[in-house]
This record gives sequence, structure tokens and C-alpha cells, in this order.
Amino acid sequence: MRFIKNKLSFDKKNVENLAKKFGTPLYCYSHNKIKSNILELKKYFQSFSPLICFAVKSNTNIKILKEIKKFNLGADVVSIGELLKALKAGIKAKKIVFSGVGKTSSELDYAIKQNILLINAESKSEILEIEKIAKKKKKIVDIGVRLNPNTDAQTLSQISTGKKENKFGVGEKVFLQLVKYINKSKNLNLKCLSVHIGSQILNHKPYQRMLKVVDKIIRKSKYKFEYIDLGGGMGIDYDHNNSKLNLEKYSLDIKKFIKTHKVKIIFEPGRSIIGDSAILITKIIYIKEGDKKDFIILDVAMNDLMRPALYGAKHKIIPLRKVSKKSKKSYEFVGPICESTDTFSIVKNYQKLNEGDFLAICDVGAYGMSLASNYNVRPKPMEILIKNSKIQILNKRQKISDLI
Ligand code: PLP
Repeated sequence: MRFIKNKLSFDKKNVENLAKKFGTPLYCYSHNKIKSNILELKKYFQSFSPLICFAVKSNTNIKILKEIKKFNLGADVVSIGELLKALKAGIKAKKIVFSGVGKTSSELDYAIKQNILLINAESKSEILEIEKIAKKKKKIVDIGVRLNPNTDAQTLSQISTGKKENKFGVGEKVFLQLVKYINKSKNLNLKCLSVHIGSQILNHKPYQRMLKVVDKIIRKSKYKFEYIDLGGGMGIDYDHNNSKLNLEKYSLDIKKFIKTHKVKIIFEPGRSIIGDSAILITKIIYIKEGDKKDFIILDVAMNDLMRPALYGAKHKIIPLRKVSKKSKKSYEFVGPICESTDTFSIVKNYQKLNEGDFLAICDVGAYGMSLASNYNVRPKPMEILIKNSKIQILNKRQKISDLI
């Protein structure tokens, strides 16, 4: 993304032309960026060739899933809906892992029928349910157990999942009991220890600590795991100041770990593959002048991009046309919805904006459209993909008539 003659260009397309052609709000993805993100992960992890399972929850668009599948990625799913979508996108069952604390009996039944690679169970009750279904089907089901390593991921509390107060996984004591139980079961085959300590992790140290805990527990269990699923969580540079996770350091720690434990590594990245591959284009409906700040009222709202309202996440907002004149007052970018949390950010020294101007909200590919809703009976935005300099429609704009 860069300015050419003061006009924003995204994957070599003039963004204002896209806004005028397709209307706003408009999610616009770059295939080049998705590709380079996947290749980057593969490059850093190539020495131990992990199975990379894309976290479908981060972006559930089936055309995106089909593109991701072409790079031989698997999928990490958390519901039967996601599982069906991943299979429909052509992702092989033997490359799909199923996570989540509350998989229902019918979801487990379907996953078992499909012979997916692993069901990563998160409680004793879930393991008993899997065993019950497996017995009925006279099958041996491959499972993982998710460990809660009680490790602080040093990220937003709302997306932290690896501390003992979080609902995810089981603690050390229960984990060790479950290993013994599964070992004796005729219908369960324990193949994997899984962990996922959180999302948008920028510092490799929490991962280092997590690996230490995993190392200790494998030793205590004396069990030979075939897979260690390290989850996702690799953070991206939302602030545009080179603050993404150092993959080299993370990779080095994993290499050391593998020297001791000869296991195959699984990753479940979502954000690091799709997060910075998309912008959300919006138009200014009104500018409301205030004493200390002006409100820039956008045609994008929390229903289109939920992250700021949900957990105070910040996304850079950039104008599609650069001008040198600055606003004297701060700007607060807000949506039109009647909720005080329908606000995106407050900025100082922004360039002077006018009603009708277009803006791009950056890095919205992950947990953007997948969290979108029809709140306020607002139709969901359109999604397009730039691939090989051509535009593909990923999803048409919902019509209001579809919602009535
Ligand atoms: N795996 C699990 C179990 C998750 O809960 C999540 C996200 O919350 C992910 C993978 C993907 O995380 P990220 O998008 O940060 O890579």
C-alpha cells in the first residue's frame, strides 16, 4: 500500500476507483499479501515443515479458504459450520483440526464420521463424549488434549487464552490424569498435545515460556506424542511501526524443542496470514464539529468491523487522497450506530477532511468480516479480492431486502 501522486494504491489498484466502482463499505483483499504471508511463515519454519492449519474463524470466506488451500494449508475449525466450509473449500479432512471448549455431540459425531486429523479436546467431559461416540461407531478416534499452560501471552486480556483463569484447555494435573485415561481407552488414540495462549502476540518470550511448560509436561507424562499443536497467535503490525512478532526467534525456540522431542509441529495461525491482507474502504457521511474535536462520521460501523468495539483494538485509518492542509482540531472516527463503543480512534494532526471523502481502515482481513453482523438491520459489506491485477468478487453486498 502506498501513495502514487497523492492517491492511495493497494496492490497496484487506485483505491478511490474501487470505492467509486463498488461502493462503500468495501472489504478489499490482496492475494499478493496473503501469498507473501504464507510464504513467510513457511520460510521461517521450513526446517521442521509443520502442518499449518489456517484458523478459519479469522476469515470464513469460502473463496479465501480456496485460495489458502492452494498453498497446501490445512484448517483449524471451531464449529461444524467452519468444518463444513473447510471441507467444501477442498481442504482434506486429514489436514483439519477441531478446537473449542464446547463441541456438541452432533459436531463431534460429524467430525468423527469425516475422519479429521485431530479433535483437540478441552475437558474430561468432552473426552468421555468422544469415547462414547467412537464406541458406538466401533472406531478409534485420534485426539489431542489442549493444555492450559498458565502462560501470560502479554496481549489484550480479551484475547488471552492461556492463563489458568481462562476457560481454555486443562491444567497440568488434569492433563496428566487424562493422558493415563486415554492410554487405557480402546476407542481413543492420543496423538497430540495442543496449546494456544492467545492472539496478537508480539513478543516471542511468552511462546518461549509456553514451550518450557510443554516440555516439562511431556516429560512428566512419559508419553510419546506424535504432534504438538502450538496454536496460532502470531501478532501483526497494526501500528505500522515494525512491531510484528519476531518469527526467527520463535522458530529457533521451536527447533530447540524439537531436538529433544521428536514431534511434528502443527500451527493454527489466522491473523498472521490474513490480517494485513485487507483494507476496509469507507466514506465520510458527515463531519460534526465539536469544541475540542470533530466527529468524522463514517459509513462503516461496529457491525462491519467489530474489533474496536469488542476489545478496544486500534486500526490505522488513512485517507485515499493525501493533502498537506492539517486539521486544527483532533478527529474522532466514529460509526453511525447508537452505541458509544461504535468508535474507531481519536487522532491529532490529521490532514483536513471533508464530507464525502474516502478513507481506508487498515489490516482488517482477520476478525473483520468474520465478526460482522446485521446489527441495526445494516447489510453486511461487499468483499473483493485483487489477484493477478484482476478483481474478483468474494461476496456481494447484502441487500436490505434480504434482511426484511
Ligand atoms: N487456534 C485457536 C484455538 C484459537 O482460539 C485461535 C484464535 O483465537 C487461533 C488458533 C488463531 O489465532 P490467531 O488468529 O491469533 O493466529
